[in-house]
Amino acid sequence: MPANFKKIVQEIPAHVSHLFDKGRVADYIPALACIPADKFGFSLLTATGDRFETGDCQERFSIQSISKVFTLSLAMGYAKEELWSRVGREPSGSKFNSLVQLEYEKGKPRNPFINAGSIVVCDVLVSHLKNPRQALLDYMRVLSGSFDIDFDEVVAKSEAETGFINKALANFLKGNGNLENDVEEVLDLYFHQCSIAISCHELASASLHLANHGNSNTLKESVLTPSQVKRVNSLMLTCGLYDAVGEFAFRVGLPAKSGVGGGIIGILPGEYSVAVWSPGLDPSGNSLAGGAALEYLTTITSKSVF
Ligand code: GLN
Repeated sequence: MPANFKKIVQEIPAHVSHLFDKGRVADYIPALACIPADKFGFSLLTATGDRFETGDCQERFSIQSISKVFTLSLAMGYAKEELWSRVGREPSGSKFNSLVQLEYEKGKPRNPFINAGSIVVCDVLVSHLKNPRQALLDYMRVLSGSFDIDFDEVVAKSEAETGFINKALANFLKGNGNLENDVEEVLDLYFHQCSIAISCHELASASLHLANHGNSNTLKESVLTPSQVKRVNSLMLTCGLYDAVGEFAFRVGLPAKSGVGGGIIGILPGEYSVAVWSPGLDPSGNSLAGGAALEYLTTITSKSVF
C-alpha cells in the first residue's frame, strides 16, 4: 500500500518538537548563532512530482555542508576519474574539520563531504570555470527552479573572518600539493557555497534528480548519469553525516547530507527526495530534530534503502 505521506508529514512536528531546545545552534559561525532554535521545516517531493510539506518549509536557511553534494556533482562533470586520486571515498570517522586526519593521510582528504575534501572539490571548480561562484548559483537556481536563490554575504563574510580551521586545512592541502589554485580564491568559493540561503522546499527540488535516476523536474536533459547518481548517493550514505554516519544509517537508512545550518537532505532512490530543517545540532554537527524527523518518516512508512 502506498504511504500516506500527507498524514505522516503533518504528524512529524509533534513527534520531534521536544528536541528543538535540546540541540545547539552552530554558534562557531557568528552569523548563525542567532537563528531561533524552534524553526522547523520539512518538504518531501516524490519522483512523480507530488509534494508534502509542513512548518517553515518555505523559509530560507544556511545550506552549509549540504552544498558539498552540489559542488561535487558539478565538479564530477569536469574532473572525471582524476578527482579520486585527490580525494578518497571512505567515511572519515572523525570530525568534519579534522586537521589531524588530513596530516596523517598526507593531504588527501578521506572523502568529498568533509571540509578538506570539499575544499579540493572547490579547487577543481576554480581550475575549470571562469566564474565558479556564478556557475554554482546558476546550477542551484536551475535545479531548484528558484531563480532568486543567492549567497548570504553576511554568512560568507562571517566564515571568512572566523574560519581559521578551514584556512589551516586549505593551507595544509596547498603545502601537500593538493590545491592547484590560490588558497584565498578557493576558500572564497568554499565560504560562499556554504552561505547559500535556501528553503526545504527548494532543497527537495534541487535534489530530486538523485531520487530519479539523474532527472530533475526542472530540466529536460539529465543532471547526472545513473552511474554518477549511484556514486553521489553512495557517498552520502557512507560519508554524509560525518562521524555519526553509522548511527544515522542505523536509525534512518537513507543516503543523506547534513549541514551545520540545521538542514538535512535525504534520498530514497526511485521514490522521493526530502529536506528537513531544525537549527539545533547534536555533538557531531547534525540536526537533532531533523534526524529524528527522518527516522520517523522511514520507520512509519517501513521504507528505506534497506
Ligand atoms: N561552513 C561550515 C564549516 O566549514 C560547514 C560545516 C558543516 O556544515 N558541517 O565549518
